[in-house]
Amino acid sequence: MFGVIEGTGFEVIEPEFEACFVGHARVERLWTGARWSEGPVWFAAGQYLLWSDIPNNRILRYDDTDGSVSTFRQPSNNSNGHTVDREGRLVSCEHLTRRVTRTGHDGRVTVIADAHEGRRLNSPNDVVVHSDGSIWFTDPSYGILMDYEGARAPSEIGACHVYRVDPSGGISVVADDYVKPNGLAFSPDESQLFIADTGITHDPDGPRHIRRHKVGADGTLSGGEVFATCTEGLFDGFRLDTEGRIWTSAADGVHCLDPQGNLIGKVRIPELVANVCFGGPKLNRLFIAGTTSLYSVFLNVNGVSPV
Ligand code: MG
Repeated sequence: MFGVIEGTGFEVIEPEFEACFVGHARVERLWTGARWSEGPVWFAAGQYLLWSDIPNNRILRYDDTDGSVSTFRQPSNNSNGHTVDREGRLVSCEHLTRRVTRTGHDGRVTVIADAHEGRRLNSPNDVVVHSDGSIWFTDPSYGILMDYEGARAPSEIGACHVYRVDPSGGISVVADDYVKPNGLAFSPDESQLFIADTGITHDPDGPRHIRRHKVGADGTLSGGEVFATCTEGLFDGFRLDTEGRIWTSAADGVHCLDPQGNLIGKVRIPELVANVCFGGPKLNRLFIAGTTSLYSVFLNVNGVSPV
């Protein structure tokens, strides 16, 4: 059940992908037993990883010092995406409570955002933190469309936007032309923000792509052209390496896109993948949240440090 899994491995589409992995490195299943895994986040100082099991209303904790998995938080308010801020604190999206929170070093949970202009958010999905301290998150409606991953409820905002919370706490819409904004991540120099749109989940003609925006010094976005369209399933969550490649979830595993958006290779996973993050002391290990399981694989690239 654990260990190296048959049917996984690297698929080279463009020759340049061969330099991105170690030939004899294998995909390992670290744990299984979740219903829907999402939002992996690595904590460097503690050498552990947290991730969401959304329908089971819990956050799980993988301890890399001994390989054990335990429950970090339950109930988790059907948490989804996570990140760490510049002080190493956990920042979480919660479906049930329709908010973004931060867990302080003392363990106390602070609400970062739960409404915009007096109307409740839908169900924050994924989140990243800029080095200026601002917090950026997507707010599709998955957590209020059904009870499985949250609680069915009408949308008060009536649309699915991307938001930025400035360091003083003000919240603003930074993108309002998405169907279902989902994963997001900055380029290594933070001059660009990539955002996935998974609108195809509720419209067969809907988007299943990642768009690229320029990030202004004032915290606004411009541009927003389609950067890459998914060829298998959809792009949910993703992270970048230091060379600007995107490692993104897809139906058949993890897709690697070059800095121009071309699919150059895959890491095959036997389950639907929702999200990934880099971890380990050198950030050369990709952790993969794939439906019931947590996987990892060592790569010959290094992730952009989230902190
Ligand atoms: Mg997501």
